[in-house]
Amino acid sequence: MAKSDASGPVTPLPAARRRCPICGKPAAARHLPFCSPRCANIDLGRWLKGNYRVETEEQSEDATGDGEP
Ligand SMILES: [Zn+2]
Repeated sequence: MAKSDASGPVTPLPAARRRCPICGKPAAARHLPFCSPRCANIDLGRWLKGNYRVETEEQSEDATGDGEP
């Protein structure tokens, strides 16, 4: 879904123009660098998971791009 406010130029965020590493949405100041507590939780889960499974040969998680070339 793309939200388009009328037809105006993209307004750059003042403080942080980061994007949620989980879903790619604009990060919320309250939950930086995530957009929501849910995404923060997801990331935490991933992290813990990866931390516990050290001996597993997991493929790089390059499935989702962050939009950064
Ligand atoms: Zn998110």
